[in-house]
Amino acid sequence: MLSLAKQVKRIALTNYLLMEPRADLHIHSTASDGMLTPTQVVEAAAQAGLAAVALTDHDTVAGIDEALAAGTRLGVEVVPAIEISSTHAERVEVHILGYFFDYKAPDLVDRLEFLRNARWERAKQIVEKLNAVGVPVEFDRVVEIARGGAIGRPHVARAICEVGAAGSIDSAFGHFLIEGCPAYVPRYKVTPFEAIDMIIATGGVAGCAHVAKLKRDELLVEMIKHGLRAIEVRHPDHSSVGRKFYTRFAKTRGLIATGGSDAHYFGSENRPGIGDVTVPYEIVSQLKQASHGA
Ligand SMILES: [Zn+2]
Ligand SMILES: [Zn+2]
Repeated sequence: MLSLAKQVKRIALTNYLLMEPRADLHIHSTASDGMLTPTQVVEAAAQAGLAAVALTDHDTVAGIDEALAAGTRLGVEVVPAIEISSTHAERVEVHILGYFFDYKAPDLVDRLEFLRNARWERAKQIVEKLNAVGVPVEFDRVVEIARGGAIGRPHVARAICEVGAAGSIDSAFGHFLIEGCPAYVPRYKVTPFEAIDMIIATGGVAGCAHVAKLKRDELLVEMIKHGLRAIEVRHPDHSSVGRKFYTRFAKTRGLIATGGSDAHYFGSENRPGIGDVTVPYEIVSQLKQASHGA
């Protein structure tokens, strides 16, 4: 049994949590690799009692219109957003979040389309080069092997083995696919700085996702100089130590401390669902104010 004082405290806390409007600012839908349609995302947000959600699909704004329509219907504010995959110094993956940018700006839409197609185009070029040196790999077969996933060199390597031009995946890479080999094609990479530019150029606020997972404070400082205005401090993969450290980091540098569930699913025991990680609605107001559109 809880003591009366503890019970009162608990009720007060519950009331406080219920009253304070909350926002989940990191959610994926079927527009990228999530399992819920943009409409289902907003429905789940309404069920969770959220005041606002941001649809942050990977490298695409395709779900935003649908989410906005559902938001108007269900009384949930939908923040136009994105999570852009970028690469720093060849191998560090950095996810840049964008909020309140003009998601219909033609330059941005074209650039995102280019980024999404880059993997596909690269695989096509590799196949052409293989064909040119007499390896009869077919692009359609590589697509089949990739089974709708993000197509890449491992799929091509398997196709090379299938046609008997290499005895193993390693030898397919070693003979054809790595730098210096006849079918090598460099991967197109966008840097975190370019991703930040894309968001700023369209009037939005650029943030860095799951910073405690990234643990690159020097890079963060560089990105702040470049116009980064927010960091994601609340994320399911952050420990409380990491969250506290970066909350302070944000405070001392005047950054907006965002957060969200990074939900890709309806939510289950070990997978975060929509509304499982939230921030006060005040953060949405700060993002809005910091965007040029405000
Ligand atoms: Zn991410
Ligand atoms: Zn994400």
